[in-house]
This record gives sequence, structure tokens and C-alpha cells, in this order.
Amino acid sequence: MVFHYAALILDVWLGLRRTARARFVRPDGLRGWWRSLPGDMLGRLVMRGCGIPAPTREHDAGDVTAMLVEDVRVARWFRAHLIPVQAQTLGRYVFSRGPIPDHMLAHECEHIRQWERFGPLYLPLYFGSSALATLRRRRPYWDNSFEVEARARADRESATREVPDKRAGLVANRDAANS
Ligand SMILES: [Zn+2]
Repeated sequence: MVFHYAALILDVWLGLRRTARARFVRPDGLRGWWRSLPGDMLGRLVMRGCGIPAPTREHDAGDVTAMLVEDVRVARWFRAHLIPVQAQTLGRYVFSRGPIPDHMLAHECEHIRQWERFGPLYLPLYFGSSALATLRRRRPYWDNSFEVEARARADRESATREVPDKRAGLVANRDAANS
């Protein structure tokens, strides 16, 4: 048993070192790398703990890269949660029992940005936001501000997808608004 966990941790560590090396060769990948480390470590630990050797695919969302783990074995981890879970993001690792639809993926990519923004503080802040919602007699998951933000982002992105001919115009407008 102890040996099993030692092997698991060593395996996770070696995997992270490979990822870190790959990120160091991309200069833009370096920014925020240390912040994504705790999440990535958790993500890899959960993935290997479910007996899944590697992510199913990578998704490049432009500013972030998601490592998708779309595997039925993820159910083992999801069952340990108090609330029903469809998908979950730990660092850059996005977990789901099967193929993740675009809208859900956009939502999870926003969680990756949150992980990169807050690093080791992300989980305490996330649960803090749920606690605050509960104190205000609101819904701990639905009214969590990180979830609100992720839902808004996914809605914006799918609105853009639904009108492909206007897409270029919307992106141009958004860029103009950001600049
Ligand atoms: Zn979410």
C-alpha cells in the first residue's frame, strides 16, 4: 500500500517535470507557471489515482491549454463528491466521464484561467466564495463567484459560435473594447 502511493507520487513528479520542461521552451508558457503547479499536481494525482495513464487530448484555447481526461474511470473520483459532478478542472487538467461538449469546455477553460490567476490560493478562495454564498442564503455552487464567471464566459463564447458569420465582427469588437 505504502509502496503503491510512493510510486504514484514519484510518477506524478516525473510527469510534472516533463511538463515543466516543455513549458520552459515556450517563453509565453513560463508566465504563471508556478501558479499552475499545485493544481496540475492535484490533477495528475487524481488522473493517476483513477488508473488513467495520460490525458485523452489537449485543447488549445488560445491563452490556456487544457489537458482533457475524458475517461469513464473518472467516475471513481466524482463519486467521492458531495454534489453531482459533470466535469471538473484541477490546474490544467479537465476531468469528465466522456467527451466534453464545447460549452462545458469553455466553462472549464475559465476555471483553468482562475487556477493560473490565483495558484495555491484558488481552492481556499473557491470554497470561501461558496461559504459566503451560503451565509447570504444563496446557493453554494450556483452563486459561487468563480462559477458565475465561468458560466458567463462559456455563454459569451457559445453566443459567438452560434453566429459564425458575425464571429469575425464580434471578435474585432471585443478586441477594440479591450484595447
Ligand atoms: Zn464550474
